[in-house]
Amino acid sequence: MAVNKLIKRLEGDDRVELLRAGRGQEGNPYFRVMESATAPVVRVEGEDRIMLGSNNYLGLADHPDIHKGAQDALDRFGGAVTGSRLLNGTMDLHLELESEIATWHGTEDAMVFTTGYQTNLGTISALMGPGDAVVVDSSAHASIRDGCALSGAETIKFRHNDVLDLERVLSDAGGRFEAVLVIVDGLYSMEGDLAPLRAIRAVCDRFGAALMVDEAHSLGLFGADRTGAAELFGIDGVTDIRMASMSKSPGSTGGFIAGSSDLLDSLRVNAKAFLFTTSGVPAAIGGSLAAVRLIRSEEGAQRARRALDNAALLRSGLVESGLDISELSTLPGGDSTVTPIVALHVGDDLEAMNLWRTLFARGVFTSAALYPAVPRSGAMLRLCVMATHTEAQIRRAVEIIAETVTEASA
Ligand code: PMP
Repeated sequence: MAVNKLIKRLEGDDRVELLRAGRGQEGNPYFRVMESATAPVVRVEGEDRIMLGSNNYLGLADHPDIHKGAQDALDRFGGAVTGSRLLNGTMDLHLELESEIATWHGTEDAMVFTTGYQTNLGTISALMGPGDAVVVDSSAHASIRDGCALSGAETIKFRHNDVLDLERVLSDAGGRFEAVLVIVDGLYSMEGDLAPLRAIRAVCDRFGAALMVDEAHSLGLFGADRTGAAELFGIDGVTDIRMASMSKSPGSTGGFIAGSSDLLDSLRVNAKAFLFTTSGVPAAIGGSLAAVRLIRSEEGAQRARRALDNAALLRSGLVESGLDISELSTLPGGDSTVTPIVALHVGDDLEAMNLWRTLFARGVFTSAALYPAVPRSGAMLRLCVMATHTEAQIRRAVEIIAETVTEASA
């Protein structure tokens, strides 16, 4: 019998070996089991732990309004719609949500996908193709990179948040491509830094490139209307494609694009990750609608402020303890801002794993980012606050982190 090369290759996969080696071990930071709602304190494997490892920045995941939105949709539409948006999967709730998002973003139109990942995959691969170029930040999210690969366009990376390098890439691209699309995250999920969007937009304009901003982590937090980093940098009206996920601040699931009606109608008929997948479950759409309304309200404004105040408290505690953390983000005009994500730089993968394990045992849940998720020797613990963390919880977490790092380096 001939050798089945695929099955053989699976047997020797290094990453699978790594997964198996970690499985069941105390210190493994991945696939830990949550036993309660995502909240400031979460029961993880039998113990309550301060949660610094979620994307629930506004603390909405267990908010009564989101529960009600999700529950009402579940009661009305059941567990699933069992079809794609194109056929039987579009509910009146989708239209309400899309209209609410478009009004919120001041765009002609908006469209909701089942997940944020599919939003990027479907949008980029539908709009770009052979003969075009997509120019992406080297730290752009995997869903952006996968969308680029699927599109067949030439993908060119520029150095993370380096506007001069972007300029160089766009200048080199010259007139070689039919269309050029620059794609960046508004807020980078690992280092917690904002993209310098005003300067990026200016460079795009000089070279006639379109701009897409992924606001997955910045939605709900930045700008007077809390639509994200583009608004904070004053380029919201001139960003060609505005993308965000419903899975972070809104505490739900899904993704959307806001933009012109030409853009959205094109995606409605061309985005395969939209057309050939089942619509989000009713509870996710109802939860998202309730979340968007809440984010737009005065309570949303207060929660955004609280999330950033909590981030400032976490940062100052870590800095006072002499720890190496990510920089503040610079705004046009020279001011700087905190973001809800703080990276605690560790360097060595093993050290980061050990640190993660001790913090977990002492009641603080963090996220470990190891190579290849970050560059070699760039291991870090990603710490995220919620608007709903109390001052006491943050101070306690800082105390435990500082004590643990000090012991480890003694
Ligand atoms: N873009 C960015 C920047 C993200 O961080 C993520 C999720 N981690 C996504 C897109 C995908 O969104 P979702 O989780 O809704 O699929």
